[in-house]
Amino acid sequence: MVHAISVLGSTGSIGRQSLDVAEKMGVRVCALTAGSNVARMAQQCRLFRPKLAVMSTQELAQELEAELADPAVRVLWGEEGLIAAATMEEADCVITAVVGMLGLKPTLAAIRARKRIGLANKETLVCAGELVMAEAEKYGAQIVPVDSEHSAIFQCLMGVRDRSEIRRLILTCSGGPFFGKTREELARVTKADALRHPNWKMGAKITIDCATLMNKGLEVIEAMRLYSLPLEKVDVVIHRQSIVHSLVELRDGAVLAQLGVPDMRLPIQLALTYPNRGERPVERLSLTQMPPLTFCEPDLENFPCLALARRCAETGGNSCAVMNGANEAAVALYLADKIGFYEIYRLVQHAVDSVPFLAHPDLEQILESDALARQSVAESFARIEASK
Ligand code: NDP
Ligand code: MG
Repeated sequence: MVHAISVLGSTGSIGRQSLDVAEKMGVRVCALTAGSNVARMAQQCRLFRPKLAVMSTQELAQELEAELADPAVRVLWGEEGLIAAATMEEADCVITAVVGMLGLKPTLAAIRARKRIGLANKETLVCAGELVMAEAEKYGAQIVPVDSEHSAIFQCLMGVRDRSEIRRLILTCSGGPFFGKTREELARVTKADALRHPNWKMGAKITIDCATLMNKGLEVIEAMRLYSLPLEKVDVVIHRQSIVHSLVELRDGAVLAQLGVPDMRLPIQLALTYPNRGERPVERLSLTQMPPLTFCEPDLENFPCLALARRCAETGGNSCAVMNGANEAAVALYLADKIGFYEIYRLVQHAVDSVPFLAHPDLEQILESDALARQSVAESFARIEASK
């Protein structure tokens, strides 16, 4: 079992639940990082007394220092701070719960420091999954997924001795808040509608990704990288109740699944206890009281982001990094009320078509592709504004 953790993105949805789990298990917290929420970070520092606290900028770090006035907590900022938190000597596990591809470098640093990674930050694997997995193999760093679908698959595979027996993974998808809507209806949905997820309470970016189904697209790529499988072995099925968290079909046709109430504390806890299991952190699943379980095909016509992600997964090279960077930029515009729902797809598609393709990008080229994708979105947006 893990004894001490660093939590990257501790003030977010996964970060807060990670601290909740750590507290109940008596796991020590060595380092915390946040973006801009000084008040919450100060509160967490008082409660957990980490050795290191990190904010995104120097200004915010100074604000935190003044607020805390505690010489026992070292305060740093920016990428350097994130890397320091990811490589803290005392930590045996790093929970990566920052949002977006800014998690990539700290995750690589934690891997090279041979930490166990409780991986929530899926964008890291989408952008540079091959590289990250190769480094994890090289340094013997264990990656335990926290994303509920990937944790479900991880749990199913705990009972499979030979990975070559996997016929396919089946990722379940709630369908998000707009399941069943037509294109005309979708063109009119508001940000508030999109932020209302039926089953999960999460950060704003991933909630929008769930509404467009881009989240499931990112998760298809995440699963391919984690389990080293080709695209044709990763399917998606809509399952509105979010009780079956994902499934694995084996060579002989046996289908394994992990079920449970939708609550991220179970996958978070497993990342800390694996290969063992701790006491139940969530409500028990009642088979007789749960709603009937339903499954159907995703609607790729009205939710084109999922199809786009599958195309990028097929193309490989830098296209997943381009798609991800463009999506982060487009979702930020959507959250700022600057663009409509379908414009997210259009801007991402345009970036994927216009950023030059690289078949075997190294880390620098991945970072450059990400920057070009964001630039492409900014330019498309400027054109939209100019034409108004
Ligand atoms: P949140 O938006 O709730 O939290 C994000 C965290 O990252 C916060 O601590 C935030 O700090 C920090 N952060 C944001 N911007 C910066 C920055 N520029 N520099 C440093 N830190 C920053 O996200 P979630 O917890 O929902 O998601 C985190 C990750 O986990 C994502 O990759 C998501 O896809 C994945 N995930 C989340 C699930 C969920 O249930 N929430 C489920 C499965 C995966 P601050 O609060 O100060 O802004
Ligand atoms: Mg998920």
